[in-house]
Amino acid sequence: MNENEIAKEVVDAAYQVHRKLGPGLLETVYEVVLAYELKKRGVTDQKLKEYRRKRDFSKTIEPKGSIQETGLRRFSIQEHQATHLHYDLRLELDGVLKSWAIPKEPPTEAGVKRLAVQTEDHPLDYIYFEGIIPEGQYGAGIVSVWDKGQIELESREEEKIIFLLRGERLTGRYALIHTRGNQWIFFKTK
Ligand code: MN
Repeated sequence: MNENEIAKEVVDAAYQVHRKLGPGLLETVYEVVLAYELKKRGVTDQKLKEYRRKRDFSKTIEPKGSIQETGLRRFSIQEHQATHLHYDLRLELDGVLKSWAIPKEPPTEAGVKRLAVQTEDHPLDYIYFEGIIPEGQYGAGIVSVWDKGQIELESREEEKIIFLLRGERLTGRYALIHTRGNQWIFFKTK
């Protein structure tokens, strides 16, 4: 059962309580019951905790999002004109977007290796996000989608991910290899 399915059950349960308690309490009841039900089922929201901790959703237009299993394997690369222009690679894995910030333009040809710094998991709703993150907020600047498409996973190990990209700019077989800390190398294979 994923978070959305649980949430649906919880909403129903919360409505029953709401009808007894009266208006105004629904949201609080929902949040309390959701947290309880998630914990009971061993589902934790840890994956997006870092993402949410960094953002003030009353100030940014970025999605709060949730963990979802869509059965799809998508990717996107967002051009992010922040303090330094960089490209955010996002791979749909484990119900979230595994994310890496690439300081230089991602390679379309084999033979070019790029540093890719792993960043916090992003919610799936972020995949095609475009817009302006306001001044003073985390990642302030302009985000636009630079590439998007499908991934076919060839192999996935702790420190090595090999996959095919079917995007508009990036196509072919790519690798992400962990080097140290949060640093990885991203390149197109021969
Ligand atoms: Mn970024």
